[in-house]
Amino acid sequence: MTVQIPFDNSYARLGPGFYTKQLPEPVRAPRLIAFNQSLAALLQVGTGDLQEMAEIFGGNQTPQGAEPLAQAYAGHQFGNYNPQLGDGRALLLGEVLGTDGKRYDIQLKGAGRTAYSRQGDGRAWLGPVLREYVVSEAMHALGVPTTRALAAVATGETVWREGGLPGAVLTRVASSHLRVGTFQLFAARGEIEALKTLTTYAIARHYPQAQGPMGLLRAVRDAQAGLIAAWMSVGFIHGVMNTDNCAISGETIDYGPCAFMDAYSAEQVFSSIDRMGRYAYSNQPSIAVWNLAQLATALIQQLDEPQAAVEEATAIIHAMPSLIEAEWLRLFRRKIGLSAVMSGDLELVSDLLQRMAEGRADFTNTFRALSDGGAREEFDDPTVYDVWHAQWMQRRANEHGSEALMQRCNPVYIPRNHRIEEMISAAVSGDFSLFERLNRVLATPFSAQEGESDLRRSPASNEVVRATFCGT
Ligand code: AMP
Ligand code: MG
Repeated sequence: MTVQIPFDNSYARLGPGFYTKQLPEPVRAPRLIAFNQSLAALLQVGTGDLQEMAEIFGGNQTPQGAEPLAQAYAGHQFGNYNPQLGDGRALLLGEVLGTDGKRYDIQLKGAGRTAYSRQGDGRAWLGPVLREYVVSEAMHALGVPTTRALAAVATGETVWREGGLPGAVLTRVASSHLRVGTFQLFAARGEIEALKTLTTYAIARHYPQAQGPMGLLRAVRDAQAGLIAAWMSVGFIHGVMNTDNCAISGETIDYGPCAFMDAYSAEQVFSSIDRMGRYAYSNQPSIAVWNLAQLATALIQQLDEPQAAVEEATAIIHAMPSLIEAEWLRLFRRKIGLSAVMSGDLELVSDLLQRMAEGRADFTNTFRALSDGGAREEFDDPTVYDVWHAQWMQRRANEHGSEALMQRCNPVYIPRNHRIEEMISAAVSGDFSLFERLNRVLATPFSAQEGESDLRRSPASNEVVRATFCGT
């Protein structure tokens, strides 16, 4: 049986300025580590025998209909503009239409050098590949918009980082890989025709109801506002919110140094290269606004009367913080079991978070424990919680069914950093059982599962992960 993928490519039609054609570089001994059957069904991707699948998703065989290419883009990294980034270690194989009628990119990450690799080797090692597989699928199960993982393949080759590490390739699926940085590339170069083509393409692909560049800006704003609020609601820190990692679709993209926090802290940073805390947990809303402003700057270049558009764009951007806050409040209200909207709710949620920071309470476990009465035990000093609890009880007097509501939106399981690290070390020595277990348990994160309570536990002091690294 051969693997059939019903490609229906559109990005490749945009023309050579948008990408560089590139075949994956073959690998020595590809072996399929994971394959996401339910996602494959959604994408109408057929399966074949294991070896053939390893050859395809490891990059040794190009499936019929694929048109592998590296996408060009630019972007602001930590606030500094880099005029030339692009897929340095990823290749778009092509697009498919899902059974849901949506269009999806299928991309190999770690498939070898491209025109945009600069000093890089175009490869990925097993750690970041498994990390992205587990965390992106967990995000999906948590209901957060995200790219997804279709397959992971071990290459049988060594990748050189600080030492030799096992190589791997991830098959990433996204509703597109268009980024703020894709628009910046053409705008900064003054390639206005290409910028117009890209804008028309992005509107048709993602927001067909949007009118013109400012309509696109508004649609991206709304999608990003929802995304950032969703991150905040599960304690997720992206870690590298550069404009090239900010997807027009509003999906979470680039699982490099990302992490879920254990103990709540608004200033939490994990990424080893984020020394100034630019992408700290509580900075994420303002960085998203900053990124949207970069998109606005790029989009405006194509307008005949840019001056008039500046006013409109400014209004669109200025509305973003309150949109994020409104969505944030809607999500956190649910997290504390409130369905009615009342003044004072924002203060009530903020007060809880403040106390959690003071009491070093675990973010995930505290919210979950609100529905089973164990929340106070999460605090160093439980009396810090008790004061809040009394106010909360008062506020809940007229609410019904709030336990069930809380259990639907406060997960039992998140991909905790110490488990991810444990999973990676085991996998490097050939044991994939924790990888498989995490995938299984995190697929239904809102229900407690028999025999899996250790995955709920916050890290012991010797297990705490303090720094995460970019996924290279
Ligand atoms: P990231 O930090 O993952 O967003 O990557 C930033 C840029 O570096 C992108 O253009 C990547 O394609 C490129 N890059 C990252 N790792 C590698 C690698 N191992 N080889 C080539 N390019 C890379
Ligand atoms: Mg990136």
